[in-house]
Amino acid sequence: MGQHPIRPTTVGGTIQTTHGGAARRPGRLRPVGLLAVAASTLLTAACGTVASGTTPSPEVTATLPLPGPGEGSASPRGAAPGAAEPDPQPSDAPPLAGRVVVIDPGHNGGNAEAPEEINRQVPSGPGEKACDTVGAETADGYPEHEFTWDLSTRIRDRLEAEGVTVVLTRDDNEGVGPCVNERAEIGNEAGADAAISIHADGSTPGGSGFHVIAPGVVDGYTDDIAEPSMDLAADVRDEFHERSDQPYADYVADDAIDVRTDLGGLNLSDVPKVFLEVGNMRNATDARNLKDEEWRAGAANAVAAGLTRYLARG
Ligand SMILES: [Zn+2]
Repeated sequence: MGQHPIRPTTVGGTIQTTHGGAARRPGRLRPVGLLAVAASTLLTAACGTVASGTTPSPEVTATLPLPGPGEGSASPRGAAPGAAEPDPQPSDAPPLAGRVVVIDPGHNGGNAEAPEEINRQVPSGPGEKACDTVGAETADGYPEHEFTWDLSTRIRDRLEAEGVTVVLTRDDNEGVGPCVNERAEIGNEAGADAAISIHADGSTPGGSGFHVIAPGVVDGYTDDIAEPSMDLAADVRDEFHERSDQPYADYVADDAIDVRTDLGGLNLSDVPKVFLEVGNMRNATDARNLKDEEWRAGAANAVAAGLTRYLARG
């Protein structure tokens, strides 16, 4: 396992095209729709001119081909006589089509067998850190990497159903890594609108609840993403809390948001990014939830709701 499986899973689009994600947002497509409507209006006017017995002017003739390029989806409805009214829904595309979210399932199933890979130092912002860690586990051995993989794929499915293009930072739960800097880079290369790392904590058994970790300002690293990342943190916190009934962490963070400047996965991100620590695996109540498949299904919906709420900001 010398190679890190850094090739992301991509469904519904390629990474290459995601750089243009902003240009493919529905909002940016509206001018095309307006153009089609305007041209359609011209067509109606031209028909009227012909019907009245006058010769169409060269100017009108010249404008007729305009609807061609980019019109693509213009429906027969739009070209029908008297159908020049603006179509309130110019596209059948889901509202979040073209938006890109990178989901980073924390750790990996092969990390424990690859200490040299995992312990090597990699850039984590101004300093260096270990490539990755093995992660936490519940008292009876349910590992964090298995939990994060399961929850992440559920969140992916939920987002894809809404038209979001989702990139995962690893392909399965059998490999090693990728390192924290590579996980950040995958989000950057995807041109993600939002990125989220999924984790579960390994704190003392007395602490319970969830928290979101947002990047603090690290000069030259997170200056540009700290503010939108805080918006993302708030949206994920609010929706997750309301929909999952998971309480705010009682052992760390303020109102379930912790601001940190020591995480390579955040420091090296060029896109808005947060970590979600879904619960404390060492706490009996949290562990019972994290191990429960039905609870995870609900939790995935709750996380997805937080992400889509953020995407709806613009
Ligand atoms: Zn973790």
